[in-house]
Amino acid sequence: MTLKDARRLLRPLREEIVGLAQALVRVDSVAIPPDGHETKAQKVLRDRLKPYGLDVELYDTGFLERSRHPFVRRDRNYKGRHNLIARRSGTGGGRSLLLSGHVDTVPVGHQPWKHDPCSGTIERGRLHGRGSWDMKSGLAAQFAAAMALAKAGVRLRGDLLCESVVDEEFAGGGGTLAGRLRGDNADACAIAEGTNYSVVRATRGGHFFDIVCKAGDPMGYFSKEEVVSPAIPMGRLLGWIDTWVKKRKGVRRGATYAAFPDPAPVQVLAVEANRFDPDVPWSVPLEARIRVYFQFLPHENVTAVVKTVEASLHSFCRRDPFFRKYPIEIRYLVDPPLLGHELPAAHAWTRCFHGAATAVVGDEALLSASEWPCDAFLAHREFGIPTLLFGPKGAGSHNANEYVEVASVLRTAEVYLAATLEWCA
Ligand SMILES: [Zn+2]
Repeated sequence: MTLKDARRLLRPLREEIVGLAQALVRVDSVAIPPDGHETKAQKVLRDRLKPYGLDVELYDTGFLERSRHPFVRRDRNYKGRHNLIARRSGTGGGRSLLLSGHVDTVPVGHQPWKHDPCSGTIERGRLHGRGSWDMKSGLAAQFAAAMALAKAGVRLRGDLLCESVVDEEFAGGGGTLAGRLRGDNADACAIAEGTNYSVVRATRGGHFFDIVCKAGDPMGYFSKEEVVSPAIPMGRLLGWIDTWVKKRKGVRRGATYAAFPDPAPVQVLAVEANRFDPDVPWSVPLEARIRVYFQFLPHENVTAVVKTVEASLHSFCRRDPFFRKYPIEIRYLVDPPLLGHELPAAHAWTRCFHGAATAVVGDEALLSASEWPCDAFLAHREFGIPTLLFGPKGAGSHNANEYVEVASVLRTAEVYLAATLEWCA
């Protein structure tokens, strides 16, 4: 019943939804810490919402800089970065729903693209560009739910809130946090990350840090009896990381991540000891660093795991003559680390949303857990709002040639509206 209604309400909006996704891809909303310029994209969204008579508000997230919430990233700037919230108030007595998505994107990167990453070109059913899949199309599909209700004059019992937030990438979460701190909360939440139709009910946490070693004498360029270089000792440090890769494979998985080949991965994201740069003559590295990425399962005590890892690193360094002489330094890229989250399969919101997704896309609507961390834990764990993730089909998130399948954006809108009709009825 609700699916038929959702399809009927969305039919007149098909071009509008694709046009909105395209318009959002065409406006640059890259956020590189500590800054981001998402406001222009939020204004594009606001203008597109205007004809629907929704209650739309654009607000500055700068107040975060005065908040004492432990997850505010103190090293980022928020003043002048705007969140957008659209409300479709209910008649009262129903369950409320928050549909949330981030409008910021990562940069286009240095790899060549087949289509201009800002073009929003549609070719053979695919919309191309930075942010097309992660996650401007998902945003368009979520806002379509509010637009469809408003256009048809439908009022449900519960409130529907749709928000577009800043600063999610690079483990930010500032935009989400701003919405929650401000009180834009609800009885359930869904985030429109590109999930290829999976209903994601659990996410992993993540910790990013650099291990830095300064060694070597800038005056000692091949001219001293002993040339000091951190390069080979850093190789031994990679060996220490490898022991953690193996150790974390044996972590207690819990049912949700039981089938993952590597439930709590440890990855090396970058290794640096000098550069292959034609302008730099053959020289000995003076400094070396390794960028490490630990992930955590939803049930883990992240603070305790981080403490154990650091104790192990310091103990390794105490036993190594080089690192005893040239101590390493740990630099956190985000502090505190991201946490995971998990909503039970039997929860009313999981069943409602999974039911809607199955009705629209059939067996493709897997109930699953994500490989990546995101801002879901903020709503779920810090503010007690049961949170799921669901989004369209695509690929290339954070890489060149990112795209989304246009038909799947429309299917995603149907899922969101069907779930809303049932949840807020
Ligand atoms: Zn994303």
